[in-house]
Amino acid sequence: MIFANMTAPELKLVDRENTFVLVPLAAVEQHGPHMPTGTDTILCTELAERLEQKLADQILLLPTLWPGASAHHLRLGATLDVQLVHYISLLEDLCLSLLDDGFRRIVLFNGHGGNIDPLRVALRSIQLGYPDAQLVGGCYWSPAQAAINALLTGQHHFVGHACEVETSLMLHFRPELVRASLLEPAGGLVPDDVDGLYECKDMCQRTRAGFTGRPDLATAEKGAQICEAILQQWEQTLNKLKQQPLGTFYDDFSADLMM
Ligand SMILES: [Zn+2]
Repeated sequence: MIFANMTAPELKLVDRENTFVLVPLAAVEQHGPHMPTGTDTILCTELAERLEQKLADQILLLPTLWPGASAHHLRLGATLDVQLVHYISLLEDLCLSLLDDGFRRIVLFNGHGGNIDPLRVALRSIQLGYPDAQLVGGCYWSPAQAAINALLTGQHHFVGHACEVETSLMLHFRPELVRASLLEPAGGLVPDDVDGLYECKDMCQRTRAGFTGRPDLATAEKGAQICEAILQQWEQTLNKLKQQPLGTFYDDFSADLMM
C-alpha cells in the first residue's frame, strides 16, 4: 500500500494494529566523485518500494524523506543538511501524525548513516507517550549485514559511504548514474572509535575524498545479490516484529523468554 497514492477514506480502512508503516529516511549529500548526491534517496527508495511490492498487504509505504542529517559532510560541499535538533523534531512530528491517526507499528527504514543517532533519539522521545506502539528504526543494511559481508570482495565489511555496497546497488538500480571512469579505492578510513569511545570527526577528517572502501570492486551483479539479500532478510525481520505483541508492560512480552 502506498500512502501518498491513497485517499483519506481508503487509508481509514487500513488495519492500524497489523500494518507496518514504512518510513524511508534518506539524504542528499556529497558521495565522492563517482556517485550522485541523491545516492541515499535513490537506493533507500528503490529498496523500500521493492519491499512494499513484495509485502504489499503488510506495508504502508510513506514517501521518502529526502532531507537528512548531514552536517558531517558539509565541509565537502554539495550537501543539504537538516540540523540534528530540527531533524529529530521532524521525525517526531511525522511519527506523531501516524500514531495519533491510530497506526501502531512504525518502521523507520533508514539509508543514511547520519540519521542513525537522531532517529533513535526521536523514537525514544515519543515512546513514553505511546508505550502501546511498536517503534522501530534502523538502516536498511543492518538486518542483512552478515549476508552482505559474504558478498563483498573488499576488506571493508560494513556499509560505508559511496563504497562497494552503495556503488554496487547503484550499478544495479541506476547504472547510468555511476561515473565508472572515476572508480578508485578510497584509501584508509580514519576510525571514530577509540577503545569503545566515540571520537566525533567529520568526513573531511575521516576520508581522503569523501567516500570509503572499495567502490572500484563494485559490480551490478553484486548489487542485485545485495538487493535480494536485503529484501529476503527484511521479510524475515518484519515477520519477527509482527510476532511481537503490542503491549505496555513486561508481562506482555515475556511469555516466550527463557527464564
Ligand atoms: Zn548518506
